[in-house]
Parts: sequence; structure tokens; C-alpha cells
Amino acid sequence: MWRASQAIGTPNAGALVGGVKLPSEGRHFFTWDPDRLRRASPRWRRYGTARLIRMILRVAEDFARAHPDGPRMTVGDLSRPRGGDFGARYSPRLPHVSHQNGLDVDIFYPRRDRAERAPRAVGDVDLARSQELVDRFVRAGAQMVFVGPNTPLVGPPGIVQSAARHDDHLHVRLPPR
Ligand SMILES: [Zn+2]
Repeated sequence: MWRASQAIGTPNAGALVGGVKLPSEGRHFFTWDPDRLRRASPRWRRYGTARLIRMILRVAEDFARAHPDGPRMTVGDLSRPRGGDFGARYSPRLPHVSHQNGLDVDIFYPRRDRAERAPRAVGDVDLARSQELVDRFVRAGAQMVFVGPNTPLVGPPGIVQSAARHDDHLHVRLPPR
């Protein structure tokens, strides 16, 4: 359900009001549970501001149009239904410092073998398509995109940044407004 949503506070100390739920899958994307390591992540991991959800759907659709042979875009965690702490208590395997106010989303890199699951190592990753996803999210208005230090992924300085523990996914953050 679309509704007016509000990101409160900051990604690292915030809350989400009027969050919108991303479906567990669509024609152009599917969600991945980074804790149970399987498709269709539980609904409580899939809330964001309406603006974030629209951006994800738009990039997924454009990406699918460019690559009709698949795989669909792999979406990881957004925020909890009302935002707030998304650390080890909620996500032991991939604890988040941020993801607290509906402006952050993890996108797992597409795999070279085109399987619809998260990559396990950089060697599994389709780097050309991953770079394309980074570029698409930058063009879509990301304030920040974190990429893995062991990947060659690049982008405008100040927006695309290397961050530990991002060798299997990129992390997109929207500006507050
Ligand atoms: Zn993240």
C-alpha cells in the first residue's frame, strides 16, 4: 500500500513512519533472506519509505529491460516496519549499523551463473552487471553506495565508497529528501 512515509532521524539512529512494504518478489526482482540464506525474505525485513520502494522497483525494471535473460535483481534488507535497531539481535549473520529509517537497501550482486541466489564470494559475481547496477542507483539519486573492497566496482567519489563486508552486496542509501 502506497502512503506518505517519513524517515526520522538518521540511518544509524532513526525510525520509520508510514513505511511501505516491498513485496517478497516481482517480475523483475526477488528478495533474499541474508540470515536464513534463502529466497523470499520475511516481511518485517522489507519496509522503506515510499521513495525508496519506488526507486528499487524502477531500477529493477530498467535492469530487467536491459537484461531480459535474467537473473532478476536480488534485494536484501531494507528496514523493519517501524525502523529502529537492525543489529545482531535481528540479523545475526549480517547485522546492520544503519537500515534504521527506511532510506537504506542492500542489493546482492548478480551472479555469473545467473542463479537467483546471493553470491558466496567475489568469484561468483557478474562484475559487469554489478557495475551497471551501481551506475543505475547513482543515476537514480543515491546519496551513497557502499561496495566491497575486494571488488573493482567504482563510481563518483563521495557517493560510491568501499566498505568492509560488502563483497557480496552493494548498499544504497537515499538522501533524507
Ligand atoms: Zn546494508
